[in-house]
Amino acid sequence: MWEDIEKILLREEDILPRLDTLARQINTEYDGKELLLVALLNGSLIFLADLLRRISLPVSFECLRVSSYSGTTSTGTLQFQDLELPAVNKRHVLLIDDILETGVTLDTVRKQFEKKSDASSVRTCVLLKKRIPLAPQAEADYFAFEIENEFVVGYGLDYNERYRNLPFIATLNQEAISRWKP
Ligand code: 5GP
Ligand code: MG
Repeated sequence: MWEDIEKILLREEDILPRLDTLARQINTEYDGKELLLVALLNGSLIFLADLLRRISLPVSFECLRVSSYSGTTSTGTLQFQDLELPAVNKRHVLLIDDILETGVTLDTVRKQFEKKSDASSVRTCVLLKKRIPLAPQAEADYFAFEIENEFVVGYGLDYNERYRNLPFIATLNQEAISRWKP
């Protein structure tokens, strides 16, 4: 697996201290509120686990399975594998995703919660935000890092379900991209 890596962008020792800061911000801003994290699977699983353990407020979480990516590009439409939203019971929803690119994913899910749930508020939090040429359809309320416009894997992010277990965020070389092409 290591020979497939082109460049390491962020290691655990870069990510975890940044999550300390991000969690402190969340702790302050949601103080006294009932918080529900909703993680978009599968990509945000590891980010969720590390962020969750830094939140010191009473908090619960739910997961929602959605997907828009095939290979290294977005298909442009979001599919909900879970047809029902989790029960919110007037809590404040914070949507958790691995990466924001066009913003279609988070914008679509946020609108679903605004329309179909009784959430007191719906905000968004991502580990990574891509610098893309066009303005995204929606911004993230919280993000940990901004990265260049390149396809990345690791720390939960996949290429056709591979590489989620890498303990860092990295780009893949062309050989690996070709080998696992869908
Ligand atoms: P958006 O809807 O904002 O364009 O894209 C967000 C979704 O696309 C993320 O949930 C993620 O699944 C996927 N995605 C976007 N960029 C990347 C990337 O560089 N690597 C991986 N593995 N997934 C990405
Ligand atoms: Mg995703």
